[in-house]
Amino acid sequence: MSTIAAIATGNAAGGIGVIRISGDNAITVADRVFKAMDGTSLCNVGGYRAKYGNVVIGGVPSDNAVALVFRSPKSYTGEDVVEISVHGGLLVVQKTLEAVLDAGAVPAEPGEFTKRAFLNGKMDLTQAESVASLISAQGEAGMRASFNALQGALSVKINNVLQGLMDMSALMSAWVDYPDEEIPELEESELLATLKKCRAELDTLLDNYDNGQAIIDGVDTAIVGMPNVGKSSLMNMLVGKDKSIVTHIEGTTRDIVEESVRLGNLVLHLRDTAGLRDSDDVVESIGIDKAYRALDDAQLVLAVFDNSKPLQKQDREILEKVKNKPAIAVINKVDLEKALDYSEVESAFAKTVYICARDGEGIAELSSAVEELIGVKDFDTGAPMLANLRQRQNCQNASQSIDEAIGALQMGITYDAVNVMIDSAVDELLSLTGKKATTEVVNNIFSKFCVGK
Ligand code: GDP
Repeated sequence: MSTIAAIATGNAAGGIGVIRISGDNAITVADRVFKAMDGTSLCNVGGYRAKYGNVVIGGVPSDNAVALVFRSPKSYTGEDVVEISVHGGLLVVQKTLEAVLDAGAVPAEPGEFTKRAFLNGKMDLTQAESVASLISAQGEAGMRASFNALQGALSVKINNVLQGLMDMSALMSAWVDYPDEEIPELEESELLATLKKCRAELDTLLDNYDNGQAIIDGVDTAIVGMPNVGKSSLMNMLVGKDKSIVTHIEGTTRDIVEESVRLGNLVLHLRDTAGLRDSDDVVESIGIDKAYRALDDAQLVLAVFDNSKPLQKQDREILEKVKNKPAIAVINKVDLEKALDYSEVESAFAKTVYICARDGEGIAELSSAVEELIGVKDFDTGAPMLANLRQRQNCQNASQSIDEAIGALQMGITYDAVNVMIDSAVDELLSLTGKKATTEVVNNIFSKFCVGK
């Protein structure tokens, strides 16, 4: 394997910048660039040992540095690895990388360190994918769930199911292939029970997929309502100064503003839309069309109503629009005298909360309603979960094959035919964990990583 190198830390000035080198010649390459203060060559340094010294760029000592040596197989990639930490100025880090490349390393591809870790059996595909979700996690629950996957929670679950299926398949093959041997008769009820148990395990993972996605990726949320009901005030209350703003994207037009905020365990990607009303104004009409589209696309709708006004025609249109969507009625301005008929609003929504956006009151109730509606209120971030569409597809196909095997057994179809279905479930699960994934799948996964990971 070639020796690869990349900057492992972010593309910004920081206290420390790390250049990571991995491969057969990692230590000799690093030794050409790094000179320890005590004169020890890195080639004579053991694994898990650090040396203090200088990096030498173009023959000139250019920065103080620490070189940390990992010896194969005890490293992230399973290969020899050296991590050189220099002062984190962008130029120093970049020049050190260049010196490392001049000394014989080649630039690492995106995700190549983690890909090598996978190819060298340090982790399976689900764990490798969790590295990417851990890096991009925006909410605490997503971070915990990703770390849990990195620890192997999903792998353990899938491997258990795999073991059950493979044991069963082996027994059935033996029974079919060696009819003269003393192999005990297979109990059909036991076979069915094993298959049903395996299917149930996979179906639980599939059932929790949407919740897991909400936890990891956040929830696209549209704030809709008539003009002046308090949509912007609700947005500000959620983004308020004591909240963490994850991103801030001004809409390209002035009709939609987007912010991502943490609310309880979740990250909401909020879209504050134009007030919904009939309008002859061309620009405003475009905004209103967009608001309706945002409502259609959203995974969650916060529909705002004014407590101090009776329901208007457009309010009723909103009630109609949100019928089949996960939506929460947010009755705002509860500090003002009530003129709104609550029952009509309440009956149209799964949940209704009462707030005073101006004073920031009601946020805890809203948070709790959102978590309940999205189904993450009691979400166990310690439970195994499917992290992406690829994993979900494999799991779904496996569950379907098991389903077919169950049907075939019940119809009394021969064991070798049933076994074909079980084998196809096994193949799907092996490709999920990466034991049997195609090169194309593997390359595709790692191409989405950042360089240096
Ligand atoms: P939007 O057009 O729906 O975005 O509404 P805004 O957030 O701009 O609010 C419209 C008006 O209602 C502003 O004057 C706000 O100060 C006021 N407002 C918003 N929330 C409340 C509230 O909880 N109580 C009261 N009394 N006024 C509010």
